Amino acid sequence: MKKEDCIFCKIANGEIPSKTIYEDEAFRVILDLGPATKGHALILPKEHADNLYGLPEATAAAVLPVAQKVAEKMRKNLHCAGLNLVQNNGEIAGQTVMHFHLHMIPRYENDGQNILWNPGQSSPEELEETRKQIVQ
Ligand code: AMP
Ligand code: ZN
Repeated sequence: MKKEDCIFCKIANGEIPSKTIYEDEAFRVILDLGPATKGHALILPKEHADNLYGLPEATAAAVLPVAQKVAEKMRKNLHCAGLNLVQNNGEIAGQTVMHFHLHMIPRYENDGQNILWNPGQSSPEELEETRKQIVQ
């Protein structure tokens, strides 16, 4: 289902032009307008979901096979040395467009990007407490 006034719905469904690098019945993959690196792409489901929480399970299951196809193309044709998949959920996590999208960020030697987090520390007790909290 499309959502009115959602820019990624309009792009995914072809109502707004985009630099499309892959398309099938359920997805469109476009180049990001503000690429972190050359080839930075976004996998957009054609059906609207705000983010991972609202994504139908079948769509979720179909995302990675699309990513694999595009990843192979990027490796072969852009000669990237690696690839980051990034997917932000919620403003606090950096999501700025509220339509699910999976970032594909090809990586190159000395590309100036650093898509990593600051490692923290946790005792075995704290980890066990967290484990229990999540699985309850
Ligand atoms: P996020 O911060 O995970 O929500 O990512 C949103 C991404 O969408 C950013 O990397 C933007 O550069 C990109 N973006 C926003 N509007 C457009 C657009 N019209 N076409 C392509 N990419 C866009
Ligand atoms: Zn949408």
